[in-house]
Amino acid sequence: MILEVLKYPDARLRRKGEKVASVTPELKALSENMIETMYDENGIGLAAPQVGESVRLIVLDTRPHDDEGKPTTEGLTELEAAVQQPIVLFNPEIAVAKDKTQYEEGCLSVPGFFETVDRALYVEVNGLDANGQPVTIKTDGLLAICLQHEMDHLEGKLFIDRLSFLKSSKIKKRIEKHGYPTAEEAAEERSEARERRKAAKETAE
Ligand SMILES: [Zn+2]
Repeated sequence: MILEVLKYPDARLRRKGEKVASVTPELKALSENMIETMYDENGIGLAAPQVGESVRLIVLDTRPHDDEGKPTTEGLTELEAAVQQPIVLFNPEIAVAKDKTQYEEGCLSVPGFFETVDRALYVEVNGLDANGQPVTIKTDGLLAICLQHEMDHLEGKLFIDRLSFLKSSKIKKRIEKHGYPTAEEAAEERSEARERRKAAKETAE
């Protein structure tokens, strides 16, 4: 079942997720619906608060797709490729976070906006899988970034909260005033942001 993905400034996105005591059939069904919703939205991760459920549950699948649309491990890091995806993770907790990286993030709850966010390069995350069994995921690459992004949602935090005050307020005001850009406007915005960064980099060099 496809679920509705809440968008900023929906207050439900600000609620903290509650730890689950055990993985009940209802929670397992929720995780399956979240995976279906994530694929339907072409997302690579989804957290329960994004579908209005205040529980500590995230789902992810960062694998790229081949020409036939099948998931592949091509282009993934060795660690990332070794993790079986899609991932269902209840009560995720970061045990180790090492080194720094940056990535241009987006979010299904803030569609059309893409900004560079600082994250740890390597993480080890403990949690429970879809069957309630303890698991540890050790990874870097996009999967590590995505894990940190989704875990932020469980704290009621969005990637736009991690930007500079100026950038963050500008985006929030724009959404509150004008709503979300169309898919076309969003694509344009994304390529313009790339150009700006490229120009800034060239100037710096
Ligand atoms: Zn998100």
